[in-house]
Amino acid sequence: MDFIIPLPVPPSLPIIGSDLRFPIRRVFCIGRNYAEHAREMGASVDKSAPMFFCKPADAVVSDGADVPYPQATADLHHEVEMVVALGSGGSDLTPERAGALVWGHGVGLDLTRRDLQAQAKAKGHPWDVAKAFDHSAPVSALRPASERMPDADTMLRLNVNGQLRQQTRLGEMVHSVPEIIAALSRLFALKPGDLIFTGTPAGVAALQRGDRFEAELEGIARLQGKIV
Ligand code: MN
Repeated sequence: MDFIIPLPVPPSLPIIGSDLRFPIRRVFCIGRNYAEHAREMGASVDKSAPMFFCKPADAVVSDGADVPYPQATADLHHEVEMVVALGSGGSDLTPERAGALVWGHGVGLDLTRRDLQAQAKAKGHPWDVAKAFDHSAPVSALRPASERMPDADTMLRLNVNGQLRQQTRLGEMVHSVPEIIAALSRLFALKPGDLIFTGTPAGVAALQRGDRFEAELEGIARLQGKIV
């Protein structure tokens, strides 16, 4: 088949311990999945109604790459999050069945134009311009779940310029990974290649040009980069 413009290269992520790559289909994100972060944002957690938004797959930036400071903001924030990669799909899943979709894990930053998000919230507008901009999703190489699984005591943390900014146990999540996947599967037909950002703990703050970030999902994955 011939196309009128060149086909874009599908976004993908490296896999730890393999030369193969993980193709990215879509990027789903959950909001307010750690109670302390919801509090710091002046919101509260609604356990019965998880809140989702999306980023484009080509917003993903690989480990080690420079991240350009985005246009149209003066308040770029970091949100360190565990990233779950789906190896299979499904709809209307129970949490008991949803866990089987997980192929692997990584760590990522849900970069946010906080000033635009505040405007969107005030006007009741969608969050796209705050969340779904170019280069808004740095993600580490992925670790296959068959090799190592995070658990409730696995630590998620972010250092900026060598200083600890965010840190939590995964056990602090309001909605567990199977619960998140099950809830998403009632809204979308999930597919292999989908990534899910699983929410950020407290401590979100601004990034400046020149800042170096180092994110870690302990024993699973590491991500570093620089804002330029
Ligand atoms: Mn987030």
